[in-house]
Amino acid sequence: MQEFQLQKSKVAEPLDFTHRKRRLKALKEAVLFTYRDEIREALWKDFRKPVAEVDLSEVYAITSEIDHALRHLKRWMSDKYVRTPLAFFGSSSHIRYEPKGLCLIISPWNFPVNLALGPLVSAVAAGNRVILKPSELTPHSSAVVRKIVEAIFPPEEVAVVEGGVETSTELLDLPFHHIFFTGSPQVGKIVMKAAAKHLSSVTLELGGKSPVIIDETADLKAAAKRLAWGKWMNAGQICIAPDYIFVHHTQKEQFLTELRKVVEEFYNKNPTESVSFCSMVNEKHAERVYGYLEEAVEKGAKIQFGGGKEGKRIEPTVITNVPLGSAIMKEEIFGPVLPVLPYREKEDVIRYIHHGEKPLALYIFSKNEGNINYFLTNTRAGGSCINNADMHFLQPYLPFGGDNYSGLGKAHGHWGFLAFSNERAVYRQNIPSVLEKLMPPYTSGKNKVIE
Ligand code: NAD
Repeated sequence: MQEFQLQKSKVAEPLDFTHRKRRLKALKEAVLFTYRDEIREALWKDFRKPVAEVDLSEVYAITSEIDHALRHLKRWMSDKYVRTPLAFFGSSSHIRYEPKGLCLIISPWNFPVNLALGPLVSAVAAGNRVILKPSELTPHSSAVVRKIVEAIFPPEEVAVVEGGVETSTELLDLPFHHIFFTGSPQVGKIVMKAAAKHLSSVTLELGGKSPVIIDETADLKAAAKRLAWGKWMNAGQICIAPDYIFVHHTQKEQFLTELRKVVEEFYNKNPTESVSFCSMVNEKHAERVYGYLEEAVEKGAKIQFGGGKEGKRIEPTVITNVPLGSAIMKEEIFGPVLPVLPYREKEDVIRYIHHGEKPLALYIFSKNEGNINYFLTNTRAGGSCINNADMHFLQPYLPFGGDNYSGLGKAHGHWGFLAFSNERAVYRQNIPSVLEKLMPPYTSGKNKVIE
């Protein structure tokens, strides 16, 4: 770590386009071919994550990010010329994209490969040097991340430092140029405070409660299928997982019937034995989520289906009649329990959502353009899907991130590149500027002496 600290004081040699491209290609090759089986195995060991989900949400998510960067990198890196107002006649101006320098990436456990290597793609594309600290809660995946990085990058370019809170705290003491943190809002605050000490810039990819609204016109069968996928993939341990659903009261029963059908179709009648459904990451998180469920039931919530728990595995569970004062309606659930609440008036939904922090995601299911527009206009969120869930994460032409409590700054594709770049303003004088006529001495005509 000391070595990196020293490096910060001098400007590191720029990593050129060819170099960045070579590294990104090597990273793709490693994730897609050389280490793919090890990634699958590690995630199975860490929390029984099904191979199909690993391929989509860990492998594909990274390789598509790399493909996108490779396709656009030349353009992203090139100087962007801007317009010249008449007053600046005789000059030209452009923006140069230079790497921030030495960056720290801290990642969480829920997509332990994707959320470690994804930001690394952006950092490398932007020409930075990086220290990456993956999560301690998924040790097998973190070890593979380390292996991949060590196989591709010399340690002075990218280094992985494994460890928990103590290691994180030590790293946060160092003067990085940029810190890219993915994790909980609580730890996000710690990161921002530490960054302030060195005035390091930050990108914070945080979490929170992401609501769903299903109106009276929605296609309930499609909504149930897409929401079941968006919620119960990764056993609900997704930052943008639907956290709770507001469904128009006329649609509630039909929606619950469709949802139950889909869950049986996806995971059969014993989801905790299904190979398509993964486990909670550890006992502590399983207890946390199950505790929310038990408390809500004690306070009057009704289990529509699910509710079982075997060790670290909790069934996909839907609850209704949920008291708004219960912990499950206050804390980010980050697990497979889903509260469904009926609503009558659109305004009540808006009022409730505004009551909480700005969510990372908000989903709207409707066929009515007026309603879609109403819900989009009257809510705030980091991102949204209309008639789907989670998909905006995978669309490389969209920025990804939250707003305030759910995050600061954006990631993915071009926005990821920008997060790790300094947009340097360059003004060039080609012929004498007309503004020179305004320079001193301020003789009469230019100046007026105030008595
Ligand atoms: P976390 O905040 O507990 O941990 C994230 C990282 O921070 C880990 O590497 C951990 O070692 C480190 N860390 C933990 N406590 C720390 C401390 N006191 N000081 C310094 N570093 C510390 O988050 P998690 O449990 O790993 O992940 C779940 C959270 O992450 C959820 O809130 C979820 O919504 C959020 N998340 C957000 C995104 C996103 O892209 N916005 C993606 C995934 C997860």
